[in-house]
Amino acid sequence: MMFSRIKQRTARLPQRLALLLALTPMLGAAQSAEAATIRAMQITEDAIILAFDGVVEKASAFNLINPQRIAIDIGGARPGTQGSSGGLITASRLGQFNPQTARVVLDLARPAIIAAGAFAADGRSLTLSLKPVDASRFAAAAQAGRIAFLPPQLIPASAIMPERKSVTVPVPAKARPYRTAPLPIIYGARDNSRPLVVIDAGHGGHDPGAISVLDGRHEKTATLAIARAVRDALVRSGQVRVALTRDGDNFLPLPERVAIARRMKANLFISIHADSAAVTQARGASIYTLSDVASDKEAARLAAAENKADIISGVDLGRQSSDVQSILIDLAQRETMNMSSAFASVLQRETATLIPFRNDFHQFANFRVLKAPDVPSVLMETGYVSNTDDARLLFSEDGQQRIGRGIARAIEAHFARRIALAQR
Ligand code: ZN
Repeated sequence: MMFSRIKQRTARLPQRLALLLALTPMLGAAQSAEAATIRAMQITEDAIILAFDGVVEKASAFNLINPQRIAIDIGGARPGTQGSSGGLITASRLGQFNPQTARVVLDLARPAIIAAGAFAADGRSLTLSLKPVDASRFAAAAQAGRIAFLPPQLIPASAIMPERKSVTVPVPAKARPYRTAPLPIIYGARDNSRPLVVIDAGHGGHDPGAISVLDGRHEKTATLAIARAVRDALVRSGQVRVALTRDGDNFLPLPERVAIARRMKANLFISIHADSAAVTQARGASIYTLSDVASDKEAARLAAAENKADIISGVDLGRQSSDVQSILIDLAQRETMNMSSAFASVLQRETATLIPFRNDFHQFANFRVLKAPDVPSVLMETGYVSNTDDARLLFSEDGQQRIGRGIARAIEAHFARRIALAQR
């Protein structure tokens, strides 16, 4: 499972890079704060094409059940044309979903999903390819959540690894099997001297994470939506470069997530999760940084639960930490741990008005994803999917956007402070 996933990504990467390079001249184009209007909608046998009179912020598509439909959300857009039909689409409607978002809803003659999509180079049209599927594939797609598209103006500033002066420490030998996996795309500020944050959406693929008490939705879909919301917020303000360890419903082993942050020489690594407890009253977010000894039994239990994902894939977790013995790593790790703790405070401060926190919000645990010796790392449990109030927040688009904006704000505050300290 794991290796076939990696192969798929390898095969796709050159295409994505080629697309990126083709779009590079567009990157300087100014973003418009004005909403664009959806001027036309065309439906063919296997595609839906939307045309805009300006540049929109983003688009995403998802499946709805009972009855089976497809919805397309266009951020930064207003509806300005009539719905259309044809092929698999029996009818369609456009409306203003919220002040920022226009929504297109497509009624289907038979189950179908949006299999792929892309904006034109000028960002003025979006082509989505439509694929008929069977009922079970449709249900799986509805469960998996959104597929998202960014106009080229918001596409990655660089697919090249940034240069950064840093302490060089020996790489634990066991990390090597993961070093050949392709690196994710970097979004945001074009300037390679800008700090880089890697956002890690917890779980994915065959590892769903915790299951929501509300409707059985999976932690992996909430973490991905939040990670994307963080990215989009950072891209909008353009102060920080950002990459996601996964941008789809794929499985990544824990050491690979850390290896991505290390290979990209990230300045900060944030792993997004949601917790689950037997007691339904337990709620609120918490932030974990690495410790040699977990701070309490609860933290130890959680560390065991989050790390279990790798046992599924047959990776021996125990052996890697025994390689981390060098005094250099130890020293680098101490400084990294201090910086991680400093960021944990900023993260709580900047997001406390947006999401509820546990009183004892800062915890220490031996999460595998926190073990990069040279990249400050935190793991955020954004709330409890076992609590109805938290689950509502974590699985709603509004809640996900809110959490994402808060995390983005904390990242910017953290780096602004680091830069100010360095200039003193
Ligand atoms: Zn988790």
